[in-house]
Amino acid sequence: MTDWIVGVGLSPTAAQWDALNASVGGQLHKGTPLALPCFSSFSGTEVQPYAQSCAVVEANYTSTEFISSVYSGFMQPQWATCQQSQMGCLLDSDDPSDSAAFANKTCFQGSVSPYYLDVRNATDVQIAFNFSQETGTVLSIKNSGHDYKGRSSAPDSLALWVHNLNSISYDAKFVPEGCSSETTYQGVTSGTGASWQDVYEFADSHNITVVGGYHQTVASSGGWLMGGGHSVLSPVYGLGVDRVLQFKIVTPDGELRTVNECQNTDLFWALRGGGGGTFGVVLEATHKAEPQLTLQVAAMEFNVTTSNLEEFYTVLVNNSLQWGLAGWGGHVAENTFIYVNPLLSLDEATASMKPMVDFINLQNGSSIITTVPSWLEFFNEFALAGEAPVGTELLLGSRLIPKSVFETPEGQSAMVKVLLQVSEHSLPYIPVVPPILFNATENSTSTTPAWRDALWHLNAFATWDFNSSFEEINAAYNLTHEFVDMFRQIAPDSGSYINECDVHETDFEESFWGPNYPRLLEIKQKYDPNHLLDCWQCVGWLGASDDRYSCYI
Ligand SMILES: Cc1cc2nc3c(=O)[nH]c(=O)nc-3n(C[C@H](O)[C@H](O)[C@H](O)COP(=O)(O)OP(=O)(O)OC[C@H]3O[C@@H](n4cnc5c(N)ncnc54)[C@H](O)[C@@H]3O)c2cc1C
Repeated sequence: MTDWIVGVGLSPTAAQWDALNASVGGQLHKGTPLALPCFSSFSGTEVQPYAQSCAVVEANYTSTEFISSVYSGFMQPQWATCQQSQMGCLLDSDDPSDSAAFANKTCFQGSVSPYYLDVRNATDVQIAFNFSQETGTVLSIKNSGHDYKGRSSAPDSLALWVHNLNSISYDAKFVPEGCSSETTYQGVTSGTGASWQDVYEFADSHNITVVGGYHQTVASSGGWLMGGGHSVLSPVYGLGVDRVLQFKIVTPDGELRTVNECQNTDLFWALRGGGGGTFGVVLEATHKAEPQLTLQVAAMEFNVTTSNLEEFYTVLVNNSLQWGLAGWGGHVAENTFIYVNPLLSLDEATASMKPMVDFINLQNGSSIITTVPSWLEFFNEFALAGEAPVGTELLLGSRLIPKSVFETPEGQSAMVKVLLQVSEHSLPYIPVVPPILFNATENSTSTTPAWRDALWHLNAFATWDFNSSFEEINAAYNLTHEFVDMFRQIAPDSGSYINECDVHETDFEESFWGPNYPRLLEIKQKYDPNHLLDCWQCVGWLGASDDRYSCYI
């Protein structure tokens, strides 16, 4: 019998853990914090540090491939800790070999599950739901660990780690099961854990394009998709939820379901925007593909100074509507500007981007307008260099900014003013990704309708360090909340993106789903009547006072 941990917030007996492990073919594992090998004390008990394993963690502490490849890796490491009690097991992300983080310090379990099940099939999930029902054990679902709101960890939970469900296949004549074969699609089916990088490489090898996220290890058919799923191609080709053709999911009642526009249609609608972690465990999804795309790329960079920021934002804001209507999507991150366009010729792209190129040239910055023959080439050459950082303590807040703000001089100057206000703390991050040109079927998805009127998904960040005090961390939470309040002033009737927003989003049901919330709640109650799944500000959640949220600040 394995030496299972019992008690301390966990109700199952050692025999029950043993039986669970046997029934899932030995795929139940103990979860320990990523950096434990560097520490000589674990929860107050002396332990043996492992120099070799510690060196591997130190070398890869901010590597997205490494973090996503292990159960205990979380892209924002605070979600592996208990922020409320300040108990965790962090390294110094600026210098992971800095022994100040671990010498004579104790490593705590934090929000890392003491047990995780390395899910390999539907039966594993069905067994886990049964186990939870019988023993009262809380479940969490972890995929890539990218979640900005801590929804993939929960203290004392049994974690379902779905990262290894990572198959990818292509059907040039895909028919959603149960639908008429008269309509076929180019469909790429990816296991929930398959990363975008793997899907992009696979699609490229079949001479097609799958519209997906701006980071190589975000999971293609997990939280990204169920929360909405934006891409820099979304302005033209829609969000992930606009393009998904079918899900395979195990719902908490134990049923393995095929979900598409012809069967389980209520769930199909709910999974297209209702968010991950609450309606069941998705095993795979099929994405509608596009042919190989020729893309125009505008990539620019300049040195930000106090005197050129206002002009930069003025050029950016005043041209954004023109760019959006021309099919540009992109990311503005600090001093970099990377846009991509599947509709224009190189000459048209050059003319369209002239105002920004002129500004960048005046700053002696660098600018390239070029054509690439495929999405994969764009992703590898341009997107990877501009990806959001991981491995550091970070929070964000956001708001979908409607195109109406960009239509009037008053709206434009209010927007510039807000950007400058935020910049006093940190430079805003602007994914230009809402589906402005995409012709969505009305009510086909459950995301906030605010996506359909938006031009920007405006973000702002706050960060802290491994050794920051509770007060400093709390200040970061307050700051992101204040950023969002500023954004709300210029977009009061809009919404926000469930996957990238303030952890303490005000009136979150309205922000994430608007009028869709009551129906989402009914669907949650139908498929999870015993409430086996719950996550922070998810549909039907139990609220901040539930024990599983005791580590949130
Ligand atoms: C660096 C970075 C870049 C990003 N880039 C983009 C981007 O370009 N576009 C974009 O739209 N978003 C982006 N995001 C946000 C991303 O959409 C969210 O972090 C999302 O939650 C990631 O989902 P995941 O499944 O990969 O991660 P996880 O953190 O593992 O899971 C997120 C949530 O989904 C649930 N979940 C995951 N898999 C399943 C499943 N199989 N069944 C049921 N529930 C599941 C989890 O329980 C959790 O609630 C980015 C995030 C980061 C950190």
